[in-house]
Amino acid sequence: MRKKSTPKVKIKNLPRFITFSFMSLILIVMITMSLFFLMTKMVEVFNAQRLALQTSSSSNSTENNTPKAANTPTTANSKQEANATATSPKNTDPLETIKSRLRSGDTDGIKVVFLTFDDGPTEHTGEVLDILNEYDAKATFFTTLHDGENAKAMYRQIVADGNTLANHTSSHDYSLYNNPEAFYADVDQLDQYQKQVTGQTETSHVFRFPGGSSNANETCVQGIVKRGWNYSDWNVSSGDGSSDPPLKDVVAQTIIGGCRSHDVSVVLCHAELKPETRAALPTIIETLQSEGYTFLPMESDYTYPRQLEV
Ligand SMILES: [Zn+2]
Repeated sequence: MRKKSTPKVKIKNLPRFITFSFMSLILIVMITMSLFFLMTKMVEVFNAQRLALQTSSSSNSTENNTPKAANTPTTANSKQEANATATSPKNTDPLETIKSRLRSGDTDGIKVVFLTFDDGPTEHTGEVLDILNEYDAKATFFTTLHDGENAKAMYRQIVADGNTLANHTSSHDYSLYNNPEAFYADVDQLDQYQKQVTGQTETSHVFRFPGGSSNANETCVQGIVKRGWNYSDWNVSSGDGSSDPPLKDVVAQTIIGGCRSHDVSVVLCHAELKPETRAALPTIIETLQSEGYTFLPMESDYTYPRQLEV
């Protein structure tokens, strides 16, 4: 008697079924990869268009006055921006992601505050550094040239605490704008001094013109850029530069309000010189940190608000 042939049929069809399934799987993987590649390209194009659409703006504020309108930071080197954009998606450290976005100019909703303290160091710089350390906030010190053991210790401590030691000329003498070579020499003198005191081989390359760039002139601004400096003015002013500075609550509200109206704020103040500003710092930092703002030290490859662009 012959046996039933059903099992033979099943064996014959099984390899075809496996082959068909395998081919389908490969097809699905290829389609998924193509879609992913297409989406990545679209995101790249979108980012490039956003960068191209960014425009620089400037304000007419002076060093002691609040600017009349909200600024967006100016765009810097487009090559740097393109490089930064290309690498940013790979960063996982939140701080590195923020820094990468600052380099690329992709700052929508980024909530970054650059506190800047001008004209120090003074005998009160240590108090300012203590407050920053208490809140793990970083800032930028636009110093002039100060002698003495305390000042030297402060230049070193600013760097040791992870803040930016920036250049605000040796003398803070406005008349040097009329003599560009003397002006550059004044800047270089502080640069050399900072290197000597801190033991660094390179300084931050972050610069602020005394009185802001609108107080200088095109020749001096061009000369500074040519010498490798990135200069910054500000878009939030504490108003503490006057001889009759505001009380701490006013300083706090002015700065907090100003920072809320910018994605990237550069805050001008003189906390090492003005006690009311020092007293306002804890409230300012605490309030803004609780609202998601990050206090970062300036770096030479970010873009900053500028009054005079050349
Ligand atoms: Zn100054």
